[in-house]
Amino acid sequence: MHSVETFRELQDEATEWRRYLHQHPELGYQVHDTARFVTEKLASFGINHIETGIAETGVVAVIQGEGGDGATIGLRADMDALPILEASNKPWSSQILGKMHACGHDGHTAMLLGAAKYLAGTRKFKGSVALIFQPAEEDGCGGQRMVQEGIMDRFGISQVFGMHNRPGMEVGKFAICDGPVAAALDEFDIIVKGRGGHAAHPYRTIDPIVVAAQIIVGLQTLVSRNTDPTESLVISVTKLHAGTAYNIIPDYAEMAGTVRTFLPSLRDFAERQIEACAQGIARGFGAEIEFRHRRLEPAMFNHTKGTNLAIKAARGLVGPVSVAEKIKPSMGSEDFAYMLEARPGAYIHIGNGPTASVHNPSYDFNDEALPYGIGYWVNLVETALAA
Ligand SMILES: [Zn+2]
Ligand SMILES: [Zn+2]
Repeated sequence: MHSVETFRELQDEATEWRRYLHQHPELGYQVHDTARFVTEKLASFGINHIETGIAETGVVAVIQGEGGDGATIGLRADMDALPILEASNKPWSSQILGKMHACGHDGHTAMLLGAAKYLAGTRKFKGSVALIFQPAEEDGCGGQRMVQEGIMDRFGISQVFGMHNRPGMEVGKFAICDGPVAAALDEFDIIVKGRGGHAAHPYRTIDPIVVAAQIIVGLQTLVSRNTDPTESLVISVTKLHAGTAYNIIPDYAEMAGTVRTFLPSLRDFAERQIEACAQGIARGFGAEIEFRHRRLEPAMFNHTKGTNLAIKAARGLVGPVSVAEKIKPSMGSEDFAYMLEARPGAYIHIGNGPTASVHNPSYDFNDEALPYGIGYWVNLVETALAA
C-alpha cells in the first residue's frame, strides 16, 4: 500500500494532460480527440491491448500484472464535457466557445491515465486491470452502451470501480458509503388540454393554467401524504409553459419534471400515481391530460465487498481519518449505475477543495487532487489483485 508521496512525481505530467483536456472539451459521444489523446498516451506507456470505438468513442485498455493469473477489475473514467460557457478565467480555460469541462471529467481522465502509467510501469499485481474510458456520462447513455456492447464479458471484468470529484470536500479526503449512492432518474411530461377563450369570461373556458397549478400541488402530496417518510422520493416540476397574452386563456398548458427514487417499488408507485393524480385532477375540472414518462438511469448501489476494498485503498493512501465511510446517498444520478448493475464494485468521491460546484461556469478541477486519485486507483488494484 502506497502513501500519496509515491505519486507526487506524476503530478506535473498529469496536470499537463488535465489542462490540455480542459482546453479541448467535447460533448457526449463526440469525444473523438479526447479518445485519441487517451489512446496515444496509453500506447506510450507500453500498453498494447487497447480497444477503441466502443459505444462510438469509448476506449478500454488492458494491463496484465506480472504476478500470474487472476481476476480482471475494471476502473472507469468519464471523458465528456458540458454545453456551458466557461467563466473560470483560468489560463487553461476552454478554447471552444460554449463547451467546458464543468464536471471534472478532464481530471477523472487524467487520474486514470496517471494510474495507467504507474501500473504499466510496475505491474505488481496478478490478473489484469481493464481501464474504461467512457463517453456520454452527462446525458446518461455512455455507461449503459458500453455495458450493452458487452465490455464486462469481453474483458472478463469481475468487479468495477468508479470515482467522482466533490467540490467542498478537502483535497486528500475521500467519501463513500455501502448501499445506495445515487438515485434512479425518471422524467415526465404532462400536457393539460383545456378550452381557451377570453380571459374576461373564464366560466366559458376550461382554464388549463388553473388545472396545471392544482396538479403541481397534487404531485407534492404524493411525496408528503402517500410515501413512507423514511423512504426517499423527489418529484420536481421543472417546466411550465402556457399562454401568449394578458387577455387570453390558452387551450393547453405543458409541464415537465423529474422523479428521483432508490427503491424499485417507489419508482413504480411514482410512475403510476403521477399519471393517476394528474388524470384525476384534470377530469375533475373537465380537462384532459396527455402523459409521457421515461425511465432513465437506475439507482446506483455500492456493493459491500467493493466498498470495503475501496475504503482499504483510500485509507492506505491518506489514513483512516481522511476517509468518510458512511456518507449520505445523493438524490442525483450517475450513469456508472449501469456498470454497478452489471458487476459488483463501488463508487467513491474524492475531495476537490473549495472550488465552485460542478456544472457551474466557474468550476475547475483541482490539480492538487491528481496524485490522490492516481494513488487511490493504484492502491485499489494492488489490494484487489494482490500478487
Ligand atoms: Zn456532471
Ligand atoms: Zn460528472
